[in-house]
Amino acid sequence: MVAIMDKHLKKISARLKSLVKNRDLNQSILIVGKDGIGKFKLVMETAAALLCDSQAACGKCFGCKNVRKLQHPDFLFVFPFPRIKPESRKNTVFTFSDPVSSNARYSDDTRDEIDNYISSRLENPFAIVDFEKKENIPVEVIKDLILALSKKPLLGGRRVVAILNVDKMAFGAADLFLKVVEEPPDDTHIILTTANPDQLMPTLLSRTDILKVPPAGIEDMEKYLIKKLEVPENQVAYLARMSGGSPGRALYLAQCDLPGRRDIIYSFFEKLLTRGKLSELIEETGREYSGGSYSVGDIRLDFEIMESIIHDLFLLNENQLDNHFINVDIKDKLGKWEIPEIESLEIWKGCCSEVRKACLVNNVSVNSAMTFFYISCADSIDNPVRVRMKLP
Ligand SMILES: [Zn+2]
Repeated sequence: MVAIMDKHLKKISARLKSLVKNRDLNQSILIVGKDGIGKFKLVMETAAALLCDSQAACGKCFGCKNVRKLQHPDFLFVFPFPRIKPESRKNTVFTFSDPVSSNARYSDDTRDEIDNYISSRLENPFAIVDFEKKENIPVEVIKDLILALSKKPLLGGRRVVAILNVDKMAFGAADLFLKVVEEPPDDTHIILTTANPDQLMPTLLSRTDILKVPPAGIEDMEKYLIKKLEVPENQVAYLARMSGGSPGRALYLAQCDLPGRRDIIYSFFEKLLTRGKLSELIEETGREYSGGSYSVGDIRLDFEIMESIIHDLFLLNENQLDNHFINVDIKDKLGKWEIPEIESLEIWKGCCSEVRKACLVNNVSVNSAMTFFYISCADSIDNPVRVRMKLP
């Protein structure tokens, strides 16, 4: 399993190791790539190399072994997490927080969720772990981190700070953290990851060395889906393309009913394109989304499917049916639709990302967001003017 999943990481992993070995690694690096592509694996390898007795991630010394278990005292590991329940007494979540001086208050439920997250990641470094609620990196955690960094490394050697999904810092946390990146303490390395570099402050980007993780090849993804995930053969091509070259994403998609979800969304788009059935469409989307039992992962998946259909409509419009097509298994069905003009498709695309953000970041109800999406798309077929969503 590891060989197929790791192939695309070989080059970047070797580069990181040689930078550590030659002491050429910038004090702050930012690893950029899709969710589940292997950023966490690279973080762990780099941290192990930095804290290894022989700086080669030998896998046998104290440093290597304890980094691997996330138990090294000078490996300060941070990631976004959700607040499951409010808590009134002092309670910290990360080991570097000093329980006496910290102002953090987290419930035992939150800590349990964090423990689950850590064990899932250690079991499979590519796994995409969805939380029950929306996650972020609270300002209290950054304050605790800064306090920990004001002291000497516990073992007197190097220290590594790793922050996953650094784009998910809460209000106020990012500004505070920027000061650390601007002047990191001696012997402290900072490793950051993100899937959304466009959401980071330009000053943060300019202070770090950016390393982009390349996607795995389509053929490798297909092999992985067939051999390791035992996905039915007629779904393999579609799933491989939906994964965008991310093994973790492929695993995630293989575990949810992707073709079933696409059937539902496909029927919405079909109604949208056979004009005149708008009221029926609105009724159906209302029935689908009004229940409110959607998790963040479900909503994200629906948006990905919508984006993939719009992506393919662009290709159909331009008659570019090469291997970038995503919904390859239903290409013939999509090809029979009356494809809207590019101006309209641009509106669909813009509207889709706006509505996605409204749901996932600004907590707009899925039902009203989806209704807005389909009405705007229908409108734009005859009148390609962009309507902006008004947030409540
Ligand atoms: Zn070692």
